[in-house]
Amino acid sequence: VTIAVDGALEQIRTIVGPSHLLSEQAVTTSYESDWTGRFGGPCLAVARPADTSQVAEILACCRRAGIGVVPQGGNTGLVGGSVPRGRGLAPDRTAAPGQQVTAGQTGGPPLVLSTRRLNEITRCDATSLLLEAGAGATLGDAQRAAGAIGYELGIDLAARDSATLGGMVATNAGGIHVIRHGPMRTRVVGLEAVLADGSVIRRMNGLWKDNVGWSLVALLAGSEGTLAVITAVSMRLVSRPTHRVTALVALSGEGQPFSSRQGAATATAVAVAAGLQSRVDGIEAVEITYPAGTTLVAEKAGLPYPPRADSADAWLTIEAAGSSDPAPYLADALANQPGVLDAAVATDSTRRRQLWAYRERHTEAIATLGVAHKLDVSLPLDRLAQFADVVGPVVEENWPGSTTICFGHVADGNLHVNVLGPPADDEAADDAVLRLALDHGGSISAEHGIGVAKVKLVAQARSGAEIGLMRSVKATLDPAGILNPGVLIPPPSS
Ligand SMILES: Cc1cc2nc3c(=O)[nH]c(=O)nc-3n(C[C@H](O)[C@H](O)[C@H](O)COP(=O)(O)OP(=O)(O)OC[C@H]3O[C@@H](n4cnc5c(N)ncnc54)[C@H](O)[C@@H]3O)c2cc1C
Repeated sequence: VTIAVDGALEQIRTIVGPSHLLSEQAVTTSYESDWTGRFGGPCLAVARPADTSQVAEILACCRRAGIGVVPQGGNTGLVGGSVPRGRGLAPDRTAAPGQQVTAGQTGGPPLVLSTRRLNEITRCDATSLLLEAGAGATLGDAQRAAGAIGYELGIDLAARDSATLGGMVATNAGGIHVIRHGPMRTRVVGLEAVLADGSVIRRMNGLWKDNVGWSLVALLAGSEGTLAVITAVSMRLVSRPTHRVTALVALSGEGQPFSSRQGAATATAVAVAAGLQSRVDGIEAVEITYPAGTTLVAEKAGLPYPPRADSADAWLTIEAAGSSDPAPYLADALANQPGVLDAAVATDSTRRRQLWAYRERHTEAIATLGVAHKLDVSLPLDRLAQFADVVGPVVEENWPGSTTICFGHVADGNLHVNVLGPPADDEAADDAVLRLALDHGGSISAEHGIGVAKVKLVAQARSGAEIGLMRSVKATLDPAGILNPGVLIPPPSS
């Protein structure tokens, strides 16, 4: 079956209504480039469906016309999966509407399918302990709904006011509470999604236990928009602790057997994190920052310098929560940890937010320096310090004058490596850092996913048999290859 692209666009305009099919460049631009400023390309148009049946009709139409579809939620993803392909941010509109294509030919500009109108929170109650919402609801809105009935979602990240629940399932997002509650995959009990042929699959029965065969959540969590468009999400609530304490702790790497301050401080941090988890109940977060990023945040955000700014090799942002005050246990545990220099502690929410700012504002502070190569890796805990020790020098050796700023979720072995200096389209710096992670027994993606940024290295990170399985699942669910072409799954040539 063939239909013209412009005929398909007319059908989509009828499906969503004229005001929700955006094709003027002035309004599509923000959908065409990603948060990093590094990835993007031209789209055919942006469709903003209002409900699941509109999503289904759009996908059926795109499949008939062979139009690629890029699902997009909050567009806070950091690996280029939420925007059309093609480097460079000046959209090339040469392959425009009017072109006749056959189903399966997805080479032209894709349609961006924005889920932001699917943002209704349809259920949030303390009896079922469930929150149900459209995939376009932001994490922040879902957190506020849970908070209003005295609960939490058990997942949090700095992009909370833009990142959507659907995008977070699609990337299997992690964030700051993974050590306590796990990543998005473990928080979700039900999903609704639309397959590439327009059929709707829905498992939103509210059952916490339902072992009838394969799990839809397990299949779609981390699928990055390549298998289906998620339209609704059901999440487990967790009780809200009555006490919560945040500490910003200055660390020294002195005495650790590493050549750089960063490596030595990371070794101290790993030891402190392990000690805390064994001695304090309710540790929710242990985050690491280093002098380059922490002083940058202080300067850009106008914050006072953190404790021991002149001598600390790193800082930990630690959070513990429970039904009794964890502060005395935390203070006691920290007092007995070698390498702890000083700490600022807060229990009220305003002051706690101020302490968190040193960690949470890293991404935006780094963005003020230019387009960063953002590499999100995880390492076995016993090799994290070794990796942190050498990653800066490896980058510097190949790109003299470049800057490497690291921070991350240290208790789960996850470092975010930001390289500034190499041109945005130079992939060699990315390759060097990711290969270094692999050489240290780590992963090329801890929580941001693969997108287009890391697809070339999937073959180094997964066996031929595993990639073969990924391709078979993709071919079964999306035989025409319309869903997020170029993302996650390596092309046969690689
Ligand atoms: C300041 C900042 C801090 C961050 N901190 C963290 C962090 O701590 N932990 C973490 O894991 N990530 C973090 N991120 C990355 C990002 O927020 C997450 O990847 C988030 O899950 C993306 O959600 P989104 O709605 O913005 O998705 P988008 O960016 O819109 O899309 C991401 C991917 O999911 C697909 N997708 C989106 N919606 C759907 C849908 N409904 N159905 C199918 N596929 C879909 C897209 O095609 C794309 O491949 C951070 C980003 C920023 C900017």
